[in-house]
Amino acid sequence: MKTGEPINFSGRIITDIRKRSYNGIGFYPLLVFVTLYTDDFYRRHMDIVIHFGTMIAGICLFRLAHLAVFRWAKEFDERLNTYVFFTSVGLTSLIWGVWYAIVMGLQGEHNTKLIMAICTIGLCAGGSVAFVPSMHLAIFFNLSMLVPAIVRMLIHKANLPMAALTLIFCVYLTLLAYRSNREYRQALDNEQELLKKSEALVRLSRLDGLTSLFNRRYFNERFEQEWKQATRLGSPLTLMIADIDHFKRINDRYGHQAGDEYLKLTADIFREVFKRGTDLVARYGGEEFVILLPNTDTDTAIRMAETLRQRMADICLVHQKRRITATISIGIATTTPLPHAAADRLIAKADNALYKAKHKGRNRAVVFSSSPAIAESDRPG
Ligand code: GH3
Ligand code: MG
Ligand code: MG
Repeated sequence: MKTGEPINFSGRIITDIRKRSYNGIGFYPLLVFVTLYTDDFYRRHMDIVIHFGTMIAGICLFRLAHLAVFRWAKEFDERLNTYVFFTSVGLTSLIWGVWYAIVMGLQGEHNTKLIMAICTIGLCAGGSVAFVPSMHLAIFFNLSMLVPAIVRMLIHKANLPMAALTLIFCVYLTLLAYRSNREYRQALDNEQELLKKSEALVRLSRLDGLTSLFNRRYFNERFEQEWKQATRLGSPLTLMIADIDHFKRINDRYGHQAGDEYLKLTADIFREVFKRGTDLVARYGGEEFVILLPNTDTDTAIRMAETLRQRMADICLVHQKRRITATISIGIATTTPLPHAAADRLIAKADNALYKAKHKGRNRAVVFSSSPAIAESDRPG
């Protein structure tokens, strides 16, 4: 199962039962054949053979056909489809149960009765396992197979020990169905719980603990994917590296706690400025952040970087009644990746632009340029 996809319990239960019942369908015609040929039973009871042989063959063929179109029919009408499935399983057991009752009520025919009892018990045991996902179906299956015969034997006061034994077996199977169904449900709950936890773990492993922005590991993963995508599409990819100016001073003046609070505030500003679903903001380390903007050209990137720079220059953190302000420097690099080009070069270019922004006095965004004349996007505000 794919992660991230919640389990649909009812759908899952139907699928499980369907898979489990698949093999059983072939058994019915086989057992009917064995029973009818025992001691040439079919020669003496042609009417029974015709009625029940036809019914069992018919319902089995119907179930096989339904299984074959299940996937298609599920999309057509899931509820109706499930109803048809449950009804056809119930009908199979009911037909068998009535037939079993009729055979058990016949005079003589001891071998056929014995074979029939063995077959019925085998089918009941198989059904108890196959239909565990639905307790009601499992119980109905067993009751409809056994109760008609028990009633018939009791009414005719024939073969009472067999009736008593069948009754005990019937109660036992009902309890077993109840118990097994609870265990099955428990296992499904555990599976769901485990899935939720593993999804939460995956989410957590991508996040930075302090700012809740994505972490560097996740950035690396996504950067590789976005690079490949941009190469395929021939679209521009922009990378920014932003670094808080003189952040060490904040720590030194106001304490590490204040520094942490300032980093969280910075992360909020990043989330506010880069809110497109495709924008990726990550904490690269310390007080350094990376922003990956797929399908974004240099002009757009410069505008966004300026918005960020301005917002950072405008805000202040109030920590223990003291106002803390800082600015940010941003290095921008844009490229339309060519096949076989090294992705790391884009990071190096953005880093180089950031270095130049710091060098030129901080609180500014600089676009990478290989020429000595630096292409600066803006002046400090
Ligand atoms: P520059 O303008 O050149 O970037 O100067 P700067 O002071 O920002 O840079 P420098 O690299 O000298 O100092 C970065 C500081 O950031 C030092 C480090 O203690 C601090 N820092 C890194 N990670 C954290 C953190 O998680 N919390 C806090 N409070 N401080 C951090
Ligand atoms: Mg810094
Ligand atoms: Mg730094």
